[in-house]
Amino acid sequence: MGKLLIFSAPSGAGKTTIVHHLLSKFPELEFSISATTRLARGDEEDGKDYYFISQAEFLHRIAKKQFVEFEEVYTGTFYGTLRQEIERIWKTGKTVIFDIDVEGGLHLKRKYQDQALAIFVQPPSLEVLKERLTGRGTDSEEKLKERFEKAEKELNYAPRFDVILKNYDLATACAEAEKLVGDFLNN
Ligand code: ADP
Ligand code: 5GP
Repeated sequence: MGKLLIFSAPSGAGKTTIVHHLLSKFPELEFSISATTRLARGDEEDGKDYYFISQAEFLHRIAKKQFVEFEEVYTGTFYGTLRQEIERIWKTGKTVIFDIDVEGGLHLKRKYQDQALAIFVQPPSLEVLKERLTGRGTDSEEKLKERFEKAEKELNYAPRFDVILKNYDLATACAEAEKLVGDFLNN
């Protein structure tokens, strides 16, 4: 069994940006591609950003116990980590890096304990988070509202993580993330 690096936060906090940065810096890391029932956004690609699957296929995979964890993160939209995805990455000798919601992140931490480092990405405030999410320009008014409402609750999960990584200034956050990951990989 290998190691796992978990990045969790409310939507819009910057975890995808930070995870992409880390992937460009550390060849020892490989991104865990989650399965989801939502549609691809912008330039997202199937089999790269997510495995985009139908709800019927998702439910079939739940029944077959193929997920290490899964969740209906937003009403009617499922996300989950496939057991075979983690195994595929460990077979290459790499550490798995996750961009996952707070519940999913804590679930993985409980399951993998010391093999995992769980990092909460903290935005400066709920207001800034809303600005980032709106500025990203990828979600409808309705979807934004749903994400804002969930974000407010999710910010309270921070103390349950191993580390809180402040993402105020992006360059500073990326440098701190590099330090955390470097230490974790070398231990
Ligand atoms: P998440 O994956 O947590 O939903 P993203 O990585 O998609 O968040 O970031 C949300 C938006 O905020 C993106 O448009 C991103 O470019 C921007 N962003 C990320 N970090 C910062 C930062 N420190 N300062 C300003 N904008 C940021
Ligand atoms: P988005 O639609 O913005 O890509 O993701 C919405 C939320 O679902 C984010 O918080 C993201 O991290 C989370 N997410 C992505 N993949 C998974 C997964 O496999 N499991 C869980 N529980 N959440 C996920």
